[in-house]
Amino acid sequence: MEYPSKLIEDAVNEIAKLPGIGKKTALRMALHLLRANEERTQLLADSLVNLRTKTQYCTHCHNIADAPVCAICSSSKRDKQTVCVVENTTDLIAIENTSQFNGLYHVLGGVISPLEGVSPHDLNIDSLINRVKDLSLDIKEIILALSATMEGDTTSFFITKKLRDYPVKITTIARGVPIGSELEYTDEITLGRSILGRKAYEH
Ligand SMILES: [Zn+2]
Repeated sequence: MEYPSKLIEDAVNEIAKLPGIGKKTALRMALHLLRANEERTQLLADSLVNLRTKTQYCTHCHNIADAPVCAICSSSKRDKQTVCVVENTTDLIAIENTSQFNGLYHVLGGVISPLEGVSPHDLNIDSLINRVKDLSLDIKEIILALSATMEGDTTSFFITKKLRDYPVKITTIARGVPIGSELEYTDEITLGRSILGRKAYEH
């Protein structure tokens, strides 16, 4: 694509690096920002820089947070005895959007995948075990809400083995979630039912 200005070309190239955005859409966005009030661009730029520099990961559950402890972990309205284990923040948001779960979360940061070189040490599994071990936290149930893929199953199995000696109930979401599908693409009704219909984990 030919651009009338190197500055537009640079902006288009950067915007088009975002997922799901092609060069045409990027050009439309760049031209839109040029036409809009200059303050608009400043606000957008500031929000992106703040996103990168100020967000942190919750020291309890590894959810994205504005403070050392996230809003869910610090809420007095959540059931602190139930912890739902998810692969990433996208899955956490998907489950939150079902409004069917009122416990806490633990974000693993991925699933075990020998093919992609992801081992248990690359994930937030030790901190999950430590949460369960800490009797003052009084965690009674761990819900494994991982994708119904081989990697998700391997990870569930690994965590279950690690938690075998602790007095905690381990459940897994009901497989209303299509086999082989990613949790984040599952519709909210199916996902909500899967949480409600969870059952004891067995291997
Ligand atoms: Zn948290």
